[in-house]
Amino acid sequence: MKVRVRFAPSPTGGLHLGGVRTVLYNYLFARANGGDFVLRIEDTDQSRYVAGAEQYIMDCLAWCGLQPDESPVKGGPFVPYRQSERKSMYLQYAQQLVAAGKAYYAFDTPEEIEQMRKEHRKDEHSHAQYDSVTRLVMRNSLTLTAAETEQLIANGTPYVIRIKMPEHTTITLTDMIRGEVSFDSSLVDDKVLLKADGMPTYHLAVVVDDYLMQITHAFRGEEWLPSAPVHVLLWEYLGWKEKMPLWAHLPLILKPDGNGKLSKRDGDRLGFPVFAMNWTDPKTNEVTKGFREMGFMPQAFVNMLAMLGWNDGTGQELFSLEELVSKFSIERVHKGGAKFDFEKAKWFNHQYIQHTDDATLAKLARPFIEANGVSPDEELLIKVVGLIKDRCTLLPDFWAQGHFFFATPEITEKAVITEKWNEQKQTFFTGWADALATLATWTAEDIEASFNDHVAQAGIKKGEVMLPCRIMLVGGKYGPGVFAIAKLIGMEETVKRIKGAIGS
Ligand code: GLU
Repeated sequence: MKVRVRFAPSPTGGLHLGGVRTVLYNYLFARANGGDFVLRIEDTDQSRYVAGAEQYIMDCLAWCGLQPDESPVKGGPFVPYRQSERKSMYLQYAQQLVAAGKAYYAFDTPEEIEQMRKEHRKDEHSHAQYDSVTRLVMRNSLTLTAAETEQLIANGTPYVIRIKMPEHTTITLTDMIRGEVSFDSSLVDDKVLLKADGMPTYHLAVVVDDYLMQITHAFRGEEWLPSAPVHVLLWEYLGWKEKMPLWAHLPLILKPDGNGKLSKRDGDRLGFPVFAMNWTDPKTNEVTKGFREMGFMPQAFVNMLAMLGWNDGTGQELFSLEELVSKFSIERVHKGGAKFDFEKAKWFNHQYIQHTDDATLAKLARPFIEANGVSPDEELLIKVVGLIKDRCTLLPDFWAQGHFFFATPEITEKAVITEKWNEQKQTFFTGWADALATLATWTAEDIEASFNDHVAQAGIKKGEVMLPCRIMLVGGKYGPGVFAIAKLIGMEETVKRIKGAIGS
């Protein structure tokens, strides 16, 4: 049987890094097993639908290099891949369940349900569920006669179809990560399967589509585990039990302190991204920063995500996507939540920057440099990138650490020069700047040799003029070797910066 997996997001907003990790594990599993990776858009909840979110999800997958084999845009043998476009397919299954006595029509108004929730609650802190106990006092096809039910439907009374959860039954599923997980059916409510507008809920749609799309393995976040007993029963009630995919409920990604699930708000509060890419809320225009715009390389982001909940047991942390495909196994995914560590995420990016060739890096760094209004020459940029990459963790660092290569910097640490300034230093810099203009070859070695000669002639210590020289060229106390900088910015610019700083 061909392995088929799916990522089934609801297009409701930004794509959380946990969602991208689900994509990644799906992708790795599909690739390792010669299978298909399907992207299915679960947009049956029209009230939560957000314009642009579907395109955004696809853009995120493209950025990460985790492209599906079948999707709403790519098509495939099981079109359509958007649940809203599959609306007409679900009713028959809901009706089949009703006919088999596994589901029922419910005509209750929202007010009636609210009333029941209050009246039947056990204490003032909770609300009663629509379940095996309370369904007996509600307006549904279990309490009404068949004739009454038919009449209500014929009259066009709005109704939903609910699953009839059995009482005191243990529902068991074998999870690839957690092993055997059991649920007490009495604790699960009679979930709505088909809504009054004819749309299925997630619960019905996910089962019908996993079946129709021949999904063999279903990976999703641990937050879906409480819904699993409903899904297992639906597979059984629809007569498809032996076709049910193998489940894997992936561990939650936790806040850095381990206290609960990592949310967008934690990112805002602690100053790190939680979404893969920038997300603009179409209603409020609020922009939430993403890993891409923060300057993460997609490969580093993906590698970091792979390690949030999995390792190969050897302590290795850096894996190419190809390596992950061959080494990843769902059985080695941890049960417990994985704490998100932004410093560690940055470490991955730093590592990837070091291992990426300069020409590729220059391409990646360019937009972050151009965002500052300069457009450096390709050859220069490649050289600069090579010179400063060990100082860069995120892509915008190429501007912070290298801006002085592209434009004359503002001297922000002028005091370092002026504090201990004297006649001797003035003479040294004037003489050296003049000599530089006549240097035969413009190499870092020759520039340094000329510097050393002038230091000796002026009778001063090299250490006294090195830092002032750096400030003159860079603007501050950072950057790679001073002579390498001079070499790259060129003779004219070097002389200009020195003379500008000493006022001669
Ligand atoms: N539509 C669900 C979500 O938004 C998918 C859960 C599943 O994969 O079954 O996460």
